[in-house]
Amino acid sequence: MLIAGNWKLNCNIAEANNLTNNLLSNFDGKNLNCDIAIFPPYTALSEVSKLVKSSTINIGAQDCSLELKGAYTGDVSAEMLIDLGCKYVILGHSERRMLRNETSENVLQKVKNAQNVGLIPIVCVGESERDRVEGRAIDVIVNQLEKSLPSENNNSNSIIAYEPVWAIGTGKIPTIDTIKEMFSVIKGWLLNKYKVNNIKILYGGSVNKGNVTEIFSCKDVGGLLIGGVSLKAKEFSEICLNI
Ligand code: PEP
Repeated sequence: MLIAGNWKLNCNIAEANNLTNNLLSNFDGKNLNCDIAIFPPYTALSEVSKLVKSSTINIGAQDCSLELKGAYTGDVSAEMLIDLGCKYVILGHSERRMLRNETSENVLQKVKNAQNVGLIPIVCVGESERDRVEGRAIDVIVNQLEKSLPSENNNSNSIIAYEPVWAIGTGKIPTIDTIKEMFSVIKGWLLNKYKVNNIKILYGGSVNKGNVTEIFSCKDVGGLLIGGVSLKAKEFSEICLNI
């Protein structure tokens, strides 16, 4: 079970340190039944990395470059993230797919870059509200899986996150039957493609402490990708400690 907190474009260094220290003290001496990863902005990774060293918290980045090295002003490579102490990288988040025009082909290249240096990609897929209303939610996520994932993959070098776009930051979550259906489609697709049935699949979209129990009633949910609530140390910690 992995609980991942995506801080997005939030927290200066002082705020990031404060949030991290609050999490560390909330988890201190506690028995945790899940892995925890936080995803600060690039600018705070170095400081947060030092704070979580030798703790139960891992860190990751919210994206990485399509490129490995060279004249790509502004980019941060997968290898640089390893250098900072990252274990994970979120790739193909809907905000990047939609607001930064990132294609599944771009995501695939980034996934390969990450895996080549030992960084575990959390590859996001999810349908828009319109896709769902017009009855093509499954086709959309299958297409994203087909184009965003490499031909070789296993449970130790990749994680999938199902994040319906219409549930991100809106307070709406799918019904449990919809979650079960989408997880079963993703699990089935992964099994068919890679012949393994233990690649972790996270749910993301408006998770809070009030809806976690319902989400976990779908047995295929292997963890959570949490946006807004990951900025609230108390609620994020409660979710982790209650797993
Ligand atoms: C996200 O951005 O990945 C996310 C799930 O956000 P939120 O929890 O705020 O809906």
